Amino acid sequence: MDIILIGAPGAGKGTQAERLSQILRIQHVASGDLFRKAFQEQTELALKAQRYVDLGELVPDEMTIPAVLGHVEEPESLHGALLDGFPRTLAQAKALDEELQRIHRQIDLAIYLKVPLEELLRRSTGRLFCYANQHVYHDTFRPPPVAGRCDLDGSTLYQRPDDTGEVLRRRFVIFFNEVTQVLDYYREQLKLREVDGNQSIDQVQAMLLNEINNSRRRETKA
Ligand code: ADP
Ligand code: ADP
Repeated sequence: MDIILIGAPGAGKGTQAERLSQILRIQHVASGDLFRKAFQEQTELALKAQRYVDLGELVPDEMTIPAVLGHVEEPESLHGALLDGFPRTLAQAKALDEELQRIHRQIDLAIYLKVPLEELLRRSTGRLFCYANQHVYHDTFRPPPVAGRCDLDGSTLYQRPDDTGEVLRRRFVIFFNEVTQVLDYYREQLKLREVDGNQSIDQVQAMLLNEINNSRRRETKA
């Protein structure tokens, strides 16, 4: 299955994708993680993309689309991908469809994880990332067992510089500007589902799995 998780910064996409990709055995492809990994490795993509990420702007489609589609086509994604943070623009959504069609795949389901703004702010500003593998924690909602350390790989936890102040505000503005077109695109294809993300991590996971299983059942019948 190829599934898209759509949601504002802090909605819980990464947290849920980490769990669901293991349960469903499909590859988690997170565009933000790809950029952050590129920054650590100082790749050519990083040199071009960093200034956009630092300002909370979208990285231009001509850089983002090939970077993400490359991962969707990897052998690890053969059984499907769980896309987190991509597509964020209509052009990205169309490019994704074209590429999947070319390799005889298609998006089965696009899920919008809806969370009120005050909660998005609480989640984003308290978020902690692990340096080695981008595992996600929260200083209050999901504290690490040992302060400042990832319990999965032992690496140091850090707060993303784009998770505060004006940069975070800019990311919200851009997200809400762009998302309507993306949601309409999948709604027209009858692939859009909405899930209330303002619940516990376990409850959201259960609702997402429910939507995914319903979609599988529909496809088996068709
Ligand atoms: P969040 O998880 O809070 O939604 P991400 O980690 O997905 O944020 O994204 C961090 C930054 O990476 C964005 O602010 C943007 O600069 C860049 N980025 C991530 N995904 C995309 C995308 N699909 N298109 C353009 N830029 C992106
Ligand atoms: P996104 O990838 O959509 O930007 P994350 O998965 O990184 O969002 O989650 C943002 C922050 O909120 C993280 O610190 C995470 O631990 C926390 N979080 C995620 N889901 C929930 C939830 N359902 N309830 C409370 N906190 C959550």
